[in-house]
Amino acid sequence: MKNMAKSLACRDLGSNCDYIARGETIEEMRADIDKHGIEAHGFTDEMLKDPELNKLIKASTKSE
Ligand SMILES: [Zn+2]
Repeated sequence: MKNMAKSLACRDLGSNCDYIARGETIEEMRADIDKHGIEAHGFTDEMLKDPELNKLIKASTKSE
């Protein structure tokens, strides 16, 4: 069975931003949104580990 691709809209994390992170797995998608957050929004490693943010990422991730 093929895994469903994952996607996450940056907007769903509270940014006014049209970026959509994608990946074949949660881990790939997460790496994509982390990189985007650091480059586009100045996120720090500390911010990316925030439990509230991680809850929001989990809740906002879509399978397609
Ligand atoms: Zn963004």
